Amino acid sequence: MRLVLLGPPGAGKGTQSTRLQDKYKIPQLSTGDMLRAAVKAGTPIGLKAKAIMDAGGLVPDETVVGIIAERIDEPDAKTGFILDGFPRTVKQAEALASILHAKHMDLDAVIELVVDDRALLARIEKRAQESIARGDAVRADDNPEAFRKRLESYHAQTAPVSAFYAAKCALKAVDGMAPIDDVSAAIERALHERKNAAASTRAGGA
Ligand code: AMP
Repeated sequence: MRLVLLGPPGAGKGTQSTRLQDKYKIPQLSTGDMLRAAVKAGTPIGLKAKAIMDAGGLVPDETVVGIIAERIDEPDAKTGFILDGFPRTVKQAEALASILHAKHMDLDAVIELVVDDRALLARIEKRAQESIARGDAVRADDNPEAFRKRLESYHAQTAPVSAFYAAKCALKAVDGMAPIDDVSAAIERALHERKNAAASTRAGGA
């Protein structure tokens, strides 16, 4: 199963991706995690990305597309993957479509977690406080100023990605404000609906 999880920062994509990864035994591919690892390792990509990420901006499309193109070629992604945090621009969505097309692959579903901005700000503050309570470092881009910038980037550049997939009838919206288990259940329902729709399309075409 090849799946894209869309939604603003703090919407719960990471939590839901981890659950899907465990259930379907396919890797969660988070460009944010990969970029943070590159920053930590001090690779050339990491060195370029750090300031952009700390300020809550978007890393250039070519960089993240390159990272994802390489990653989905790895053996563990052969049977499927969950993309978390990618694509974030229509250009990235188009690049993903070309990469998959060249491999005779397609996405099975695109799920959008819908959450309102005020709830997100409250969630992100809670996430920072929980990190502090655990003695962990707070992500540099989880401070309110950078978070607001990330939300702005989302509305300006990533919200059109939903329209891109909606136009292809691939998009399923799920209420991300619901309790975590309810969101997981709604995602499962959305995946079944997509599977049934794909099966009836195949049957209709046969
Ligand atoms: P995330 O962990 O998904 O919230 O990503 C953290 C940061 O990494 C974002 O605020 C961006 O600076 C950068 N980033 C992650 N994924 C992408 C992407 N697909 N395109 C551009 N920048 C990204």
